[in-house]
Amino acid sequence: MKSYRKELWFKTESRRKLVNITSQVITCLRESGIKEGLVLVNAMHITSSVFINDDESGLHQDYEIWLEKLAPEKPHSYYHHNSFEDNADAHLKRTIMGREVVVAITEGALDFGPWEQIFYGEFDGKRRKRVLVKIIGE
Ligand code: ZN
Repeated sequence: MKSYRKELWFKTESRRKLVNITSQVITCLRESGIKEGLVLVNAMHITSSVFINDDESGLHQDYEIWLEKLAPEKPHSYYHHNSFEDNADAHLKRTIMGREVVVAITEGALDFGPWEQIFYGEFDGKRRKRVLVKIIGE
């Protein structure tokens, strides 16, 4: 069995941002040389997510509105976690949007359903953060 590991780094200019990382994961897959197996992609921080959905700007606006309704950023004083920090909302948003995705690799390609794309979801940005890509297979 072959194994491959890479860290992808991100520093978003805004506090919250959704970044399509599909092409970067495909680059990792090509580098790995693995044709049949699994790829795991996970956020290495507890205030950001990796998830799969549609790359459609209206949907991305809907995520922003929905997440702000569930866990509004402000007022910061609303959250117990914010006695030393101001990112309680980002922890909660990350929990909702998930930590990782696993995608099957078939004949050297990501075995996606229609419209599936991999996203990095940043909820407490403006600093360097990492995503782990781990690929195993033959
Ligand atoms: Zn925190």
